[in-house]
Amino acid sequence: MRIANHAGRAVILTSDSTGTDVHTASEGRFGPSLPAVYDHWKDFTDWAGSYTARTADVIIDRAALGSPSPRPPQVFAIGLNYQAHASEAGYQSSDEMPPVFTKFVSAMTGPDTVVPLPADGRVDWEVELVVVIGTEAKNVAADAAWRHVAGLSIGQDFSERVTQNAGQAPQFSLGKSFEGFSPVGPWLVTPDEFPNPDAIKLGCSIDGEPMQNGTTADMIFSVPRVIESLSRIVRLLPGDIIFTGTPSGVGIGRSPQRFLSPGETLLTWIDGIGEINQSFVAARAEVLA
Ligand code: ZN
Repeated sequence: MRIANHAGRAVILTSDSTGTDVHTASEGRFGPSLPAVYDHWKDFTDWAGSYTARTADVIIDRAALGSPSPRPPQVFAIGLNYQAHASEAGYQSSDEMPPVFTKFVSAMTGPDTVVPLPADGRVDWEVELVVVIGTEAKNVAADAAWRHVAGLSIGQDFSERVTQNAGQAPQFSLGKSFEGFSPVGPWLVTPDEFPNPDAIKLGCSIDGEPMQNGTTADMIFSVPRVIESLSRIVRLLPGDIIFTGTPSGVGIGRSPQRFLSPGETLLTWIDGIGEINQSFVAARAEVLA
């Protein structure tokens, strides 16, 4: 099942361009927003599994798509979760839990956006598989972890490397939370839709030139191990988002290094989900009174 946040309403897709409004089809039982659906995820999937009418009463307008979880209770992001990326970033291999940081909620957007590039910044790209939690998870074993996942989506973990690496200890969370730095979309795909949800191809390209091309099979901590490790410490909540780390091919690891420039366009894709699209402008200095 694919579910979109379309104009603020939960819509089950019947094709790439049509869908069924969940609130209408369920006669008011679920929704109307997608976050409201996560609060009753188990009941919703039971209902959706038996709902076969699938009347296409919504025409999908990509400009109306928002993040599948636009205001998640918690956002987790995993750093250095692919060996080749850890190496290009200058880190040794390790079997320990990779670093965990957050991307502050105000940076979240839908799938197709214009991203302001901060002055004097070096903004890098990181394609990432994004996990949305469907049911609360505490002390969950890896082999039970997928059951707590509502679905998967595409994310970019944009990273301003000057801010990220300034000071004595890295500022991962701030460097990755400038305005517009967390596009997610275009919709949520439930794990059962993938032939193997632990081996999904993902990548991105700038103006048609491939930059990253990897597979989640190369994760150091797989999605189930990430959920197991996080849930030992924190309670994962419905609607929570996990950015699961990026494969190699980011700008800071290139020789010469490369960063995003105004006027460029970035296409980010994941097999079985689709694509998201970003273009870039120079940020204007802005002071709010
Ligand atoms: Zn990342």
